[in-house]
Amino acid sequence: MERNKGYQKLKEKTRLRGNSFFFLSTILLVDAFLIGLCISVALQERNMSVQAAVQKAESGVRGEKYLALTFDDGPDKDYTKRLLEGLRERGVKASFFLVGENIDGNEELLSQMTKDGHLVGTHCLNHVDLTKKSIEESCRDIWATNEKIQAVTGRYPEYIRPPYGIWSEELEECVGMTPVFWDIDPLDWQVRDAGQIVEHIRKNVKKHQIILLHDTYGTSVDAALAVVDVLGREGYVFVTVDELLID
Ligand SMILES: [Zn+2]
Repeated sequence: MERNKGYQKLKEKTRLRGNSFFFLSTILLVDAFLIGLCISVALQERNMSVQAAVQKAESGVRGEKYLALTFDDGPDKDYTKRLLEGLRERGVKASFFLVGENIDGNEELLSQMTKDGHLVGTHCLNHVDLTKKSIEESCRDIWATNEKIQAVTGRYPEYIRPPYGIWSEELEECVGMTPVFWDIDPLDWQVRDAGQIVEHIRKNVKKHQIILLHDTYGTSVDAALAVVDVLGREGYVFVTVDELLID
């Protein structure tokens, strides 16, 4: 009987120990499950936020309609100044391809261009077809213009808009610059009518294009600012040519 009691106690103890073990195991299992659940939810959330970011970036790239306004032949004391003010008011960046000989006396305009975040590139020294001169002479003209720009802005230009769009591989090898051509040419220097220039651009525009204008005519400045307003309302975003060429 005594032995039996002892056996019963032992059995009870074993059962209790067994129960505690079972209880502890259950807690551990539940904990492990909860931790696992938390990790999986966290990972899922992280995945979802990564996916959302990728989708957002993709839709941003797909959704944007970029345009680059480019201006040749300046800087001009009056017209470039008015254009810079208009672009600043609208928060728009453009690209300027300068004539070296026009820089003298207009250094303030150049500084303003850089300050406002516009791209400053080279057009030429004195507006001639670069392929009509010897390679050496044309390269010297381009370097001279680049140095004039660097002296004022502190940046050596990387982009060139060759006069009349005439360029050669030899010139490119010689100066190591990227030539920038254009998609839309409203012949603003000939038309001299802001309404007609705007209409030409509006009719021909597609996303990711480069528009050629000249900041040496009042009608071109009026047209450029009107284009920013009209096409801006149609969802176009104006960027500098380097941003367009990268895309
Ligand atoms: Zn020109």
